[in-house]
Amino acid sequence: MSEPQIVWLRRDLRLVDQAAFSAAAAAGPVIPVYVLDEESPRERKPGGAALVWLHAALQSLAGELAQRGSRLILRRGRAADELVRLAGETGATRVHALHHYEPWWRQAEATLAGRLDLQLHHGNYLLPPGAVTTNSGGPYKIYTPFMKAMQAAIGGLDLLPTPVLAAPEHWPASHQLEDWALLPTRPDWAGSIRAFWQVGTAAALDRFDSFLARADAYHVSRNLPAQDGSSRMSPHLHWGEVSPRMLWERLAGRGGEGARALRAELIWRDYAQNLIVQFPHYPEQPYRRLPEGFWRDPDHDPAAAADLAAWRRGRTGYPIVDAGMRQLWRIGWMHNRVRMISASFLIKHLLIDWRHGDRWFWDTLVDADYANNGVNWQWVAGTGVDANQFVRIMAPLSQSAKFAAGDYIRRYVPELAGLPDEHIHDPPPELRPPSYPPKLIGHQEARERALTAYRLAKGRG
Ligand code: FAD
Repeated sequence: MSEPQIVWLRRDLRLVDQAAFSAAAAAGPVIPVYVLDEESPRERKPGGAALVWLHAALQSLAGELAQRGSRLILRRGRAADELVRLAGETGATRVHALHHYEPWWRQAEATLAGRLDLQLHHGNYLLPPGAVTTNSGGPYKIYTPFMKAMQAAIGGLDLLPTPVLAAPEHWPASHQLEDWALLPTRPDWAGSIRAFWQVGTAAALDRFDSFLARADAYHVSRNLPAQDGSSRMSPHLHWGEVSPRMLWERLAGRGGEGARALRAELIWRDYAQNLIVQFPHYPEQPYRRLPEGFWRDPDHDPAAAADLAAWRRGRTGYPIVDAGMRQLWRIGWMHNRVRMISASFLIKHLLIDWRHGDRWFWDTLVDADYANNGVNWQWVAGTGVDANQFVRIMAPLSQSAKFAAGDYIRRYVPELAGLPDEHIHDPPPELRPPSYPPKLIGHQEARERALTAYRLAKGRG
């Protein structure tokens, strides 16, 4: 029998269109392994909501493998060390994996490549980062030209089928998923997350196909949080239960604004990845710095700490922001339009550094993604590579009315459920129930405070 091939799984938990599985299966018996590595990512280990998803995703993949006479081996520890240990136990010398671009994974890949034959394959993005370049041959920094170049470059996709997996002569030992205790117990705050989502490749494709029946209106419906108007593929894509190429292929032959807008959003995901390849610490450091002391600092200012706590708990007194923050807590996901509004509110209305928001999202999103999260937070803050400006301040109350968020607010802020449309977005004080807080700060006051802070900062800087 030929030498067993290890497939090292991370955020690529699928069998179809998974180049590491296909290459391994072509070379010998396959040992699929997921290593729970909380050491390499350090403070970027998955947050609580992400672990809830991971538990279900591993269960789903293990089930699929079992149906094919294979197994999912679970190990825990520093990935490079565990893989070397597994290779020693099984006689394998080669590890197949998909490229991951988070700095800690690149480091782990480099370490492993020095100890075993590591074969890295592409496949979690529409095209490998760096596949499109500017006229001068450099990487793109700005989204729109990147998007156009990508659209021109993406050709036939040739998706990889699910390979036939031969089993090794002896299976190595595996941890039990339950022993990892990825799910919260005391208290079990994740019941509503589990109830909302169907996890795994088959469920993701079912969801996408039913979404496609409505996708012609996506360019409009994607902005309406009260409607089920977007694909909700983000956690499935983040964990690699589907590849973006699989979704792109399902869009083949579709014209119209809906399909065009959806393709453009899928390209955003590649764009964010391209940025962290260029700037690995982008989600940790502003690209354009604001002077020291610009932000209100929750670590030293009790009023800022109280504001941050109110934002996290969905008690800012701005119904659209509170609905979003409570949706996030309830199902581990927030509508994109509301992510923008609530992020902007934290940064500009509360003058709190976007990195506090990034960290909260990291802990609470099932789709928390190093690149997508950091790139979008910097985009909203106006501190990133693009032309967005800090001084562009979103008006949450008019955004709420413009995007018809009334029923969304009623769903997630039940204290306000009885208010009619004309008051739901900005309830006057006499209509606010006692259980619903007053605004942390008025919109005009917040706007002026932010603009003044910015002007002073520019004067100093
Ligand atoms: P759809 O509208 O159906 O879009 C299809 C897919 O395109 C998405 O699943 C996603 O993979 C990709 N996509 C769409 N919009 C974006 C975008 N702006 N940036 C990158 N990819 C995009 N997305 C994450 O996956 N993880 C995050 O941690 C994350 N953090 C965010 C933080 C902030 C402050 C903001 C404003 C946005 C963030 N996003 C993040 C992007 C976006 O909000 C989500 O991808 C989107 O809400 C997912 O919903 P959907 O799957 O229905 O998207």
